[in-house]
Amino acid sequence: KREEVHCEGCGAPLQADDPERSGYVPQAALEREHIICKRCFRIRHYNDVAPVEHDADAYMNRLQSIGKQDALVVQVVDLFDFAGSWINGIGRHTGGNPILILANKVDLFPRSTKRQKLKEWVYRTAKEQGVKPVDVILISAEKGHHIQEAAQAIEEKRRGRDVYVVGTANAGKSTFINALLREFGAEGEASVTTSPYPGTTLDAVYIPLGENKHIVDMPGIVRRDRMSEYVAPKELKAITPQTEIKPKGYQLNAGQTLFFGGLVRFDFREGERQPFVCYFANSLYIHRTKLEKADELWEKQRGQLLVPPADPKEIPPMKRHRFPLTGKEKEDLVIPGLGWVSCGTDRAQVDVWVPEGIQVQVRPSII
Ligand code: GDP
Repeated sequence: KREEVHCEGCGAPLQADDPERSGYVPQAALEREHIICKRCFRIRHYNDVAPVEHDADAYMNRLQSIGKQDALVVQVVDLFDFAGSWINGIGRHTGGNPILILANKVDLFPRSTKRQKLKEWVYRTAKEQGVKPVDVILISAEKGHHIQEAAQAIEEKRRGRDVYVVGTANAGKSTFINALLREFGAEGEASVTTSPYPGTTLDAVYIPLGENKHIVDMPGIVRRDRMSEYVAPKELKAITPQTEIKPKGYQLNAGQTLFFGGLVRFDFREGERQPFVCYFANSLYIHRTKLEKADELWEKQRGQLLVPPADPKEIPPMKRHRFPLTGKEKEDLVIPGLGWVSCGTDRAQVDVWVPEGIQVQVRPSII
């Protein structure tokens, strides 16, 4: 008889007798090396089962079906791209059900960031969108930070109800659900499995919570107005921050320009010499030049020195947005999906050029 073999994922002794018990694998899989149990397999491949919705109307219908029930809504948002990862109309569509916000990817923020300030900003921004969250938890789904806190908040706020997890594509919903499953798994909860139910009305994934309740992982909605939608998939890596952002500060004189790859052009037109601090993926190339040379450099170097995009023809034409900065408070100029420039407390006139369809936003500085 073979000695006892353990799952490489969770360490449970492997067995092929009872699919309901921990460590289950089909008999055939037992013969292999490096075995993980079926549950761990599902967790590891969760991204394959996580559904996505492209049709905004269909998505709103799904949200409204949540509104017809008594449930807790958990909205996962991407802190790095808050506006671009917000589900428009979420409050209205989910019919007054309580909304708990998980603000994800906090690991991307400089370590010196004040969590409390960030949290307050999330509350404030949610409120502007018509949502008064029952709680806001800053998490890093990928690093597994504050998952337990999130799990506790969910347990506390759901008060025996079903939980619907919603989010736009890329907010990190799957990563969070994975982390959550791992968290439960670590507590020896054997019954946590996920099962895709394609073709059901919700097209969602149900994770049992006991007492006949579920965590329902709703499909992510794809938004079209983020920079990430405009960049070729292979170039996405260069603009998506993977690790803690190292802000890059530039002391600029009026008449200077910054290029962010070939995606954004930032002209400081008028004002005293002052600092502009850039929060973008560390790998995004930033080029400083004189405003008077900017047109020529752009023409010559876009797709060469100024990348991405390698092929500028694939991107909509650039559109100029003019911003007066009052200097009353520090403000961020945000390019959804790409990053932001934090401006100082001096008056200034700046032009930001972005591909048509991208909305540049102004907000009080969050860092
Ligand atoms: P979903 O579409 O909402 O399910 O998003 P995914 O879970 O697939 O995550 C989208 C992308 O964000 C992936 O590249 C993840 O690696 C990344 N991601 C998810 N959570 C985090 C996080 O906490 N921090 C960072 N830096 N990246 C994350």
